[in-house]
Parts: sequence; C-alpha cells; structure tokens
Amino acid sequence: MGKIAINIATGSLQQQEMIVGIDLGTTNSLVAIIHPEDRKPVVLKEHDGNALVPSIVYFDRSGSITVGDEAKNYLVTEPQNTIFSVKRLMGKSYNDVKERSSFFTYKVIDDNTESLVKIQVGDKFYSPVELSSYILTELKKRAEHILKTPVTRAVITVPAYFNDAQRQATRDAGKLAGLDVLRIVNEPTAASLAYGLGMRTDETKTVAVYDLGGGTFDISILRISNGIFEVLSTNGDTYLGGDDFDHAIVKHWMDQKKIREEELMIHKDLAQELRLTAEQAKKHLSNNSNYEGAVAGDKVSLSKKEFEGLIQSLVDKTIQRCKNALADANISIKEIDEVVMVGGSTRVPLVKESVSKFFNRKVHDELNPDEVVALGAAVQADILAGNNKDFLLLDITPLSLGIETMGGLMDVLVPRNSKIPSKAGRQYTTQKDGQSGMRISVYQGERDLVKDNRRLAEFNLSGIPAMPAGLAKVEVAFLINADGILNVRAKELRSGVEQSIEVKPQYGLTDAEVEKMLMDSIRHANEDIKIRALVEAKTEAQLLIDTTRKFLDKNAGLLLPAEIEATTKAIDELRTSLDSDNKDMINQKTETLNEISRPYAERLMDMAISKAMSGKSIRDSI
Ligand code: ADP
Ligand code: MG
Repeated sequence: MGKIAINIATGSLQQQEMIVGIDLGTTNSLVAIIHPEDRKPVVLKEHDGNALVPSIVYFDRSGSITVGDEAKNYLVTEPQNTIFSVKRLMGKSYNDVKERSSFFTYKVIDDNTESLVKIQVGDKFYSPVELSSYILTELKKRAEHILKTPVTRAVITVPAYFNDAQRQATRDAGKLAGLDVLRIVNEPTAASLAYGLGMRTDETKTVAVYDLGGGTFDISILRISNGIFEVLSTNGDTYLGGDDFDHAIVKHWMDQKKIREEELMIHKDLAQELRLTAEQAKKHLSNNSNYEGAVAGDKVSLSKKEFEGLIQSLVDKTIQRCKNALADANISIKEIDEVVMVGGSTRVPLVKESVSKFFNRKVHDELNPDEVVALGAAVQADILAGNNKDFLLLDITPLSLGIETMGGLMDVLVPRNSKIPSKAGRQYTTQKDGQSGMRISVYQGERDLVKDNRRLAEFNLSGIPAMPAGLAKVEVAFLINADGILNVRAKELRSGVEQSIEVKPQYGLTDAEVEKMLMDSIRHANEDIKIRALVEAKTEAQLLIDTTRKFLDKNAGLLLPAEIEATTKAIDELRTSLDSDNKDMINQKTETLNEISRPYAERLMDMAISKAMSGKSIRDSI
C-alpha cells in the first residue's frame, strides 16, 4: 500500500505519486507501471487500446508539434518536417553519424562536426535532447491522463551500449520534459526483470537478450547474480530491424508492379502507402500464412513463405551477431540459461524459430516483446519506490566493507555478499620511523578509491611505541554480529595497544542507494582498475624514493660522487613523474631508480659480510 496524503489546499485525498517506467525507443515509446492492486506490471493504454507511441515528432507549418501515430503519417510526405529515429542522434556529434547521413531524411546540421548535432526544421534548430523531450512530454501527458494523477518521476531505459554522454542526454531529455529521472536502466536488464529473472537473490543466471526492434538489433549477454546485472557483452547492428523487412516487401512489390524508384520520388503518397501497407502485410503474416491488400487501388499480396525468403539473409545476420556476442563474453551456447525475446520484430515466426534453434532452447516470449522493456522499467521503478522489499538481501552484507590504505585505496576486509554474522582481519604496518599513531578509516562500497565509497567511521590507534617503519604489527579486525552491527578493532600486536569502534554498516543507506553504489562500481570498473594501478605505481615509487633517500643520508660515504649524482637525478625524475599521473612513466622511472640503487644494497651486504669475515679473520689471526 502506498501512503495517502491530504492536499491541504483542496482538502482532498491525494494518492502517493507513482514512479513510471519508460521505454524511450528508436521506433516506439511507451509507459508502464506496477498496478497498485494486483502488483503486476502493466503498460498504460489509451482508449484505443494502443500502448505504443511512435517515436516520431512532426512540425507543422506554424511550428506546432505532434508526436506519435499522427506524426507517422507525414514520414514520407513531409520528410524534412518529420523527425524519426532521434534516439540514434542522442549524445552524438556530426562526425559520429556522417557515414549514415543519407539515412536521415531531415536536416542534420553538419557545419560544426565536433560538437553535438542539431536538427534543422524550417528556420529553427533542435537538439536531439529537445526532440526526445517532446516524446517524453507526450508520454507523460498520456500517463497523467490515464492515471489521473501527476507523473513527475520516472525510470527510463537505454541500450546497454549507451555511453555516458548518451545516458546523460537521455536524463536531460527527461528533465526537460518535467520528469525526475530516478534511474537510467539498460534495456536488456529491464527485459530480464520483466520476466522475473534476477529477482531471486540466491541464483546465478546467464541470460541472452535478443532485441530486434524497428531499426536496430541488439544482442546482450547478461550475468545475473545476487540481484546484480552484469553485461558480459553486447553486439548487434544499429541499422538492422523491422524497417528493413518492410523495405524488402516494398522492393518485392515494386519489382512485381514494375514501379521504378524515380516514380516514388515524385509520388510521395504512393511511397508512403507502399511502406505502410508493407508493414501491415508483415504484421499480418506473423499470425497468418497469406496477405492480400491493395496499394493505390491495385491488389498486392504476399505469402508467408515469400516473406521468409525476402528476410532470410537479414535474420541470418542477427544469428551471426549472436555468435559474436557469445565469443566476446567467452561463453558457450550451453551456458546460456535463458533467452529473452524483445522488440516488435521478434513476433515474426521465422525470427523466433531461428533464435530458438540457434540457442537450442525455448525462448521467453510470454510477454509482448514490444512491451517487455517498459514492463521491466516499471518493476525497477517499483523497487526504487521501496514497494518491493523482498528484493533486498538482509542476511548478507549488501556492500563490501574495508579500510583506507596508502594512496586512498580501499582495502576490502569483508567482501560484498558475505554472510552475517561474519568476521575478518588483516595486518598492517607503519610507514614512518617512530610513527606513534595510525588512522583507521572504515568504508563501505565497491569502488577502488575510498573517496568514491561511503565513510562509515574513523578512529585513531594511538600510543604505538617508537619503532622503525614497517616493524609495528597492527591487526585490524572486523566483526559483524547477527544484527548487522560492525565492530572494528585495531591492535598493535607487539605492544598490545588497542582501540575499537562500533558502526552500523547499513545505517542511513536506502535500498536504492545500495543499488546505485553497486551499479556505479560496475560502470566504473575499468576506470577504477586504471586508477588503482596508478595509485599503486605512485605508492611504490614514493616508497622507493623514501628508502633510497634514507640510504643516501646514512651511507653517502660508500658511494662515489658520480653515483650520488646519478641517484639524486633518478630520484628527482621519479618524483617529477609522480605529478604526471602517467602510470607507465612512473613505473619506468621507478625501474630506472631501482636499477641504479639495487647494486648499492648488494654492495652494502657484501661489505657487511666482508666486515664480518675480516673481523673474524683478525681475531683468528691473533
Ligand atoms: P524499437 O525498440 O526500435 O523502438 P519496437 O520494439 O517497438 O521498436 O519494434 C518495432 C518494430 O516491430 C517495427 O518494425 C514493427 O513493424 C515491428 N512489429 C510490430 N508488430 C509486429 C508484428 N506483429 N509482426 C512483425 N513485426 C512487428
Ligand atoms: Mg526497443
């Protein structure tokens, strides 16, 4: 049950606002919610029973905007005023799309090839973000009309391969449409959620999501484990989809009727009618074996067999991409546990059969393939709204726990998903001679740098007796009791000095925040690995600088002036390289200094031995 609030102004009861799930598609967009009574995801439909809103924006002569089915009617007759496939332009510069410029029948501005593209309609310029916001505004309006409540919060889906710029652009479009975008979710993840895959926290599944839409094909291999969705690989073809099936039919009929391309250029109405009739025929053939219709009063027909002949090579292409995706993920067909069908074009029986045959299993097609992404977005929205409590794991640690070590790195003591109660410990040492205290900072999170994680507590272990660097033995122990309370203790083992603190690891973190932290860690995994490598290189370099300096101070007498000079120079160069943030350079300079100083250590050792030997020999000779 949602909360009920009273509107002070009107005195009426106000239902708590719903968070909607939105599939902002290349071809079609739609909205879904979790039904407040039966708690099942449903798409929002207008009275005409249609949930899909074509992602098309039409500008009439006066500049007023129409979105959806009505706009689709102008696709061929007024191509310069009718914007379709705007999703392809999100977060892109002209350079990114110039190879496909002929695809866009409207004007994509090409004068500044580096910056984000703009679209010109009449004498006005629009960004893809603005155009997408018109589609979202239309969806919002419809949802409010159907639900009879304001809609201001949403989860929006994007392809798994969308980069940060494209995700940000999608967020911005939401904001422009007056939506607070709580989460951007990957389409294959949403589709899996709609089928309840990954809702059980104790299972690990490998899922293939085959998504054939209007203009694009995506295959994604996901690994779902403990409620975490990991994208193992994505593949596909950004210019292959149901539209190509339509074109194949149009060409087939043109051949039959001996209609030439040039004729269509002049008779745009005919071109439009051919195109729409072809789509109709295609859809009809998903459930029937023969289609009969008319274009411009002239009879046209198509059998299912003929249609399959026309699209066979296109379907084969998608299967080849599936092979590539599996290879990239390093996974065999046998390891795929579930196959999920997404996108209106998977309604074509030949597509479904080919995919099922390739993966050698029954595919998930119980839900409407063009609705499943929106349905999953609604599931995600519901989890964010806090209505789906079973989803969070309570008997295990949702995030890793650890302490900060040299260079601000996160050293994990209790990994994420550890069973509660649990305990862990590790030994650390001092960095400086005579160091009397040690700061213990406790963090929660999956990122490699503590600054990206959440600090839970901090305390000082003081009173460590003076000893050379590296000699103190500080044991840090983490103990999580059955209530999830974390006790952190630090003890210097040589002296017995001890200090401890109690923290509630989950305190103040909502389920949504936990999930966000996890998602962030997945998204930043690559960059984190790089940063960790850099920090480690820097830490090692600093350590070498310190010990070499110490050696120079104490043993200058053992070295030749030229050696001292070379060493000092190598130290300086290494120190300068530390500012560069260039890991390879730092490692290279570290190696250089190492090569110079290594013989000194050997020499020192030899001297110690020969000293001992000579001492002995002196005594012996007496
Ligand atoms: P997108 O994800 O690209 O926005 P959709 O998933 O809505 O697109 O898929 C749209 C495509 O699905 C269109 O090419 C449309 O013609 C096709 N489609 C819809 N219904 C059927 C059907 N019954 N049979 C075959 N194709 C269909
Ligand atoms: Mg889609």
